[in-house]
Amino acid sequence: MVRKTENISLKGYNSFGVDTSADLLVEWDSVESLVEWLRSEGKEILSGRWDILGGGCNTLFTGPYRGVLIHSISNGISIVSQSNDYVIIRAEAGHLWDDVVEWCCQQELWGIENLSAIPSSVGASAVQNIGAYGVEAKDCIESVEVVWLDTLTIGTISGAECAFGYRESIFKHELAGKVIITAVNYRLSHTPAPKLGYGSLQEEVAKLGEMTPLAIRKAITTIRNGKLPDPAITGNAGSFFKNPILPREQVEALKVLYPTMPTYVVEGQPDKLKIATGWMIDSLGWKGRAMGRAGVHDKQALVLVNLGGAEGCEVVALAERICKEVKEKFGVDISPEVNIL
Ligand SMILES: Cc1cc2nc3c(=O)[nH]c(=O)nc-3n(C[C@H](O)[C@H](O)[C@H](O)COP(=O)(O)OP(=O)(O)OC[C@H]3O[C@@H](n4cnc5c(N)ncnc54)[C@H](O)[C@@H]3O)c2cc1C
Repeated sequence: MVRKTENISLKGYNSFGVDTSADLLVEWDSVESLVEWLRSEGKEILSGRWDILGGGCNTLFTGPYRGVLIHSISNGISIVSQSNDYVIIRAEAGHLWDDVVEWCCQQELWGIENLSAIPSSVGASAVQNIGAYGVEAKDCIESVEVVWLDTLTIGTISGAECAFGYRESIFKHELAGKVIITAVNYRLSHTPAPKLGYGSLQEEVAKLGEMTPLAIRKAITTIRNGKLPDPAITGNAGSFFKNPILPREQVEALKVLYPTMPTYVVEGQPDKLKIATGWMIDSLGWKGRAMGRAGVHDKQALVLVNLGGAEGCEVVALAERICKEVKEKFGVDISPEVNIL
């Protein structure tokens, strides 16, 4: 089934809660219906302005969207194959990511429990390579199923081909505008492999007295709820900015000036280090401050919030001011993680 709605309000389709509209929203619930619709109208639609919208939790609309938003409402999780060690599960692109995590934890499958409570669709989990608490989606993505928009054929891209990096994937670069993700296959394990070395996770899990995927999920949900704003109450898109990955010498020079600046090693890049944008924004005094109806969250400086009725351009203005001040003080360019439309 494909459902088309003209002049639709986007308020419920973006976690910033920006009240704007799109010329047309096209929702599809199966790969067959998507391909059929693309065959009949795709050529015309794809020659104009269009974008793919998941749950809108990493998207900021700066004004009415003058084009077509293609949105998956496909749902479903199934087991594709399994052995004594692993299970491959397949989830439809429109399925809620956190429901996939919960389902896996309930089956005592290990691998994605640390990615609990991230608001995402399955499709975007691969585009964004979502990450938290020392785990990234790439660690478990076996393959991604797509529709190729030039030929309208169905294809599969292996995890290794996805060029995953920190909030990066091939879908943001070479394949941007060339495919629609229809499902993702994840490889999970029956073998316990808790990863607790991040923040206060170890202590929070210890309080629960058991070491299961469900216990880790519970601990992570508790920690996240304590420090991140709930988009249903305060519009936001999680971390607004990325943490820059810089040459080691540049970071070491910054550490001389700012000894308490947190730095992190980057897997596979020994000559680089990641620095914390939230720390820089906090040290500029922005935490809890506002500029009009947009603000910086009072518990996490990396998160920009809609304080009520903000338009997307107000959030962008705040973000630009913060970027400028970070550059002036630290000499570092920061860039948004959020997709600005
Ligand atoms: C409170 C909060 C906490 C968050 N915490 C985290 C966190 O811990 N870690 C983290 O990584 N992120 C976090 N985020 C950001 C967000 O959850 C992720 O970026 C998530 O993947 C966005 O999913 P979405 O479906 O809403 O994507 P959208 O914002 O709708 O889309 C994101 C991108 O994916 C593309 N896309 C979506 N579906 C498809 C598809 N089927 N085919 C091709 N392209 C597609 C879109 O075009 C867009 O470029 C948080 C956000 C919020 C609001």
